[in-house]
Amino acid sequence: MELLEKRIISDGSILPGNVIKVGSFLNHQIDVKLLMEMGKEVKRLYEGENITKILTVEASGIAVATAFAAVMGTMVVFAKKHGTSNISGDVISCRTHSYTHNTDYNMVVEKQYLTDRDRILIVDDFLANGQALCSLIDIVTRSGAQLVGCAVAIEKGFQHGGDKLREKGIRVESLAIIDSIENGVIRFRR
Ligand code: 5GP
Repeated sequence: MELLEKRIISDGSILPGNVIKVGSFLNHQIDVKLLMEMGKEVKRLYEGENITKILTVEASGIAVATAFAAVMGTMVVFAKKHGTSNISGDVISCRTHSYTHNTDYNMVVEKQYLTDRDRILIVDDFLANGQALCSLIDIVTRSGAQLVGCAVAIEKGFQHGGDKLREKGIRVESLAIIDSIENGVIRFRR
C-alpha cells in the first residue's frame, strides 16, 4: 500500500537488530486517519469473507485492529500478554516469544469471546519471524472458530515468518512488505 510505504520511508527509523521504529504514526503516537485508510484496504482484500471478529494481541496490535474493525464493522478481541486478575473463567493460552523484548510470555484469551460461529481475521502491527501470528492461530484453532486469514501492517519479509505461514496455506495479507534493509535503505517487495 503506497500510502503506508511512503510513511515508513519518511517517518520510520531503523534501530539495531533491524527493528523498525514507527512510533510517530503506528505504535506510540497513532495516525488514526492512516489506520482507517489501511482498514479500507484490508476490508477490500477480505470482501465477501464474512469476518465476524478481529483477533490481535496487546499492546500495539490493538490500535491497528480497532481501526480495521471500525471500517469492517466487527468486534475486536485482544489476547492479553500476562495472567492478569481481570481474566476469569475458561481461557485458552499459548506460550510465545517476544521478538522485540526477547522474552517468553503467555498469550491469554477468555474462551467465551471466540466461538465456533466466529470467522476470525488475525491482525497485528508487525510480522517478523511469525511467532505472534502462530500463537494467535493456535488460539483460534483451539477455540473452534474458523480462521479466515491474517492482515498485518508491516511485514519484514527478510525474516520469512510470512512466507512460512503462506506455505502452510494460511492467507496472509501485509500492507507493506520490506524485503531488505541495507545501509539504511528500505526495499519493498513488488
Ligand atoms: P514475530 O512474532 O513475527 O517475530 O514479531 C511480531 C511481533 O513483534 C509484533 O507483535 C510486533 O509488536 C513486534 N515486532 C517485530 N518486529 C518489529 C519491528 O521491527 N518493530 C516493531 N515496532 N515491532 C516489531
